[in-house]
Amino acid sequence: MNVAESERMAGQLQKIGYTLTEDFETADLILFNTCCVRATAEDKIYGKIGEIKKYKRLNPALIIGVVGCLAQKDGENLIKHAPHVDFILGTGRRGELAKVVQDFESKRRQFVDTSNVSGLIDDENILPIRAGSVSAFVPIMYGCNNFCTYCIVPHVRGRERSRIPAEIISEVTETVNAGFKEITLLGQNVNSYNGGKTFPELLRDVDKIDGLQRLRFMTSHPKDLSDDLISAMAHGKNICEHIHLPVQYGSNKILQKMNRVYTVESYLELVKKIRAAIPNISLTTDLIVGFPGETDEDFQATLKFLQEVQFDMAFTFIYSKRTGTPAATFENQVEENLKHARLDELMKLQNKISLEKNLKLDGATVEVLVEGASKTDKNIFTGRTRQNKLVLFPHESENVGDIVNVKINQVQTWLFKGQIV
Ligand code: SAH
Ligand code: SF4
Repeated sequence: MNVAESERMAGQLQKIGYTLTEDFETADLILFNTCCVRATAEDKIYGKIGEIKKYKRLNPALIIGVVGCLAQKDGENLIKHAPHVDFILGTGRRGELAKVVQDFESKRRQFVDTSNVSGLIDDENILPIRAGSVSAFVPIMYGCNNFCTYCIVPHVRGRERSRIPAEIISEVTETVNAGFKEITLLGQNVNSYNGGKTFPELLRDVDKIDGLQRLRFMTSHPKDLSDDLISAMAHGKNICEHIHLPVQYGSNKILQKMNRVYTVESYLELVKKIRAAIPNISLTTDLIVGFPGETDEDFQATLKFLQEVQFDMAFTFIYSKRTGTPAATFENQVEENLKHARLDELMKLQNKISLEKNLKLDGATVEVLVEGASKTDKNIFTGRTRQNKLVLFPHESENVGDIVNVKINQVQTWLFKGQIV
């Protein structure tokens, strides 16, 4: 989401004469697009904001701005902590970035605006400057209404609001016409898309766009992933066989305390339904360990649950206390060492499951969308399968954006290696 929004902000800034640069020493403007979903993200940003103070000393005209979730959450306090920051713009004001920068250029007056958190998004007509040339993110909605008790997102991104289908279709069409092959539709919970069509209806419409080769979406909340969505995926043209379906935990007691509004049983039922309709689906998830009140019994239930579901992959997080969320005040917060030990055990088990699942693809030929040379070796190219699995292979005559068949000859937990056939 932040990548997508950074691309849109870069688009706004280009309209007023800025171009992207990697060079801090010659930059006229440094903009931090921030996250605060966990304390680690926040600490990292405060560290980075401190680090760039030296560039302001080198170039006093340099403008430093902070936008995004941490800007929304900390507002004035952020400026107090880092007085070299020139402006703070909350998430509901992102559409006004260009105007704020222009105002600052002329007035040079420190500025903070975190009002209107659920405000309309005003930069819809600005062409994003996209990273890469193959795969693009297209937001379909902003905000979240779910209020999971651990989560800061609804507090810093405001209420759910959906873009209208025509706007989304036109953005995807433009992006595909510009050469992108893969589109990922984004929202905190795409199943509650409400822009005049349901999410499955929107997905079917986007799937019809000429030239689009792969269609993905993120994220689905298990509480309202509908039969119609499963059917749209099962009968889709270019909709990829992958669902990211964050479960967060594997015991009903904790799920209820998290306000996730589903049970272990209903989640398993949903997985069964999805796998019956789309047999080659890849299923990934998010998990949080160390939620307040977590007992060893709850944790063991989660391990058992992982064995049962057999996810292709999981993003695992240690519970991070977010001030302002209900869970931050819950009793029986889990001790730090125990959280880490449980995370290790959870990861170990999921890695074993991921590897076992991946081994089934040993020797198979998979369809890979070529993304480009690997960061460490220009002769090795990378790409992803329709199931979103990462594949590395020696570069031959293929181009970035091609779809090639790769025969897998080496299987690892996180990636595959193979040869173009
Ligand atoms: N809207 C998406 C997730 C957005 S946040 C969804 O509900 O699926 C991405 C992930 O961060 C969540 O799925 C959750 O696993 C994790 N997360 C959110 N708040 C957290 C917290 N306080 N501590 C640790 N992990 C958290
Ligand atoms: Fe956070 Fe829950 Fe909303 Fe996801 S659905 S963003 S976890 S509140």
